Amino acid sequence: MEYIKRHIRDVQDFPSKGVLFKDLTTAFKDARALHVIGWDLSQLYRDKGVTKVVGIESRGFIGGSILAFELGAGFVPARKPGKLPADTISMSYAKEYGTDTIEMHRDAITEDDIVVLHDDVLATGGTMAAAYALVKSMNPKKIYVNFIIELASLNGRAALPPEAEVTSLIVY
Ligand code: AMP
Repeated sequence: MEYIKRHIRDVQDFPSKGVLFKDLTTAFKDARALHVIGWDLSQLYRDKGVTKVVGIESRGFIGGSILAFELGAGFVPARKPGKLPADTISMSYAKEYGTDTIEMHRDAITEDDIVVLHDDVLATGGTMAAAYALVKSMNPKKIYVNFIIELASLNGRAALPPEAEVTSLIVY
């Protein structure tokens, strides 16, 4: 864990003034840190029978793919509007300024699936709350929620439903 932490770069005032951005590209580019992230994430879900990992565009695609591979599960992208080619379902959510929307393929999840929803960072939780609602609407057996980094001071967990089982590798 300490090894991963040492490879996370703090960028002040990105993407806007006052935000301390947790940059994981410096961890992903280090072979050992990338390996440890994949291994540590997978250890959280090893015995849970996970069948699909849903990664949120775009930084959630990296850890989500590694996690899916490690677990022997499938990978499903949750994307920005207009990117997925087939029939989609979508969910909109409030951002600091205006709203945003995420989409998934309508046939991405079945009622037999056990799902891990993954993103790199939990900040205010708005993005994950929308993704959670979207996956829930497809009625899988179980949904787990996972982050590499959780920014506890922003209290993103409060945006998620109380029944959501949230696990983060690193909490700041
Ligand atoms: P949220 O506020 O939880 O909806 O976060 C939206 C997205 O922005 C997440 O998917 C994160 O990848 C990213 N994000 C928000 N705040 C930060 C931050 N301080 N450092 C790194 N990524 C962030």
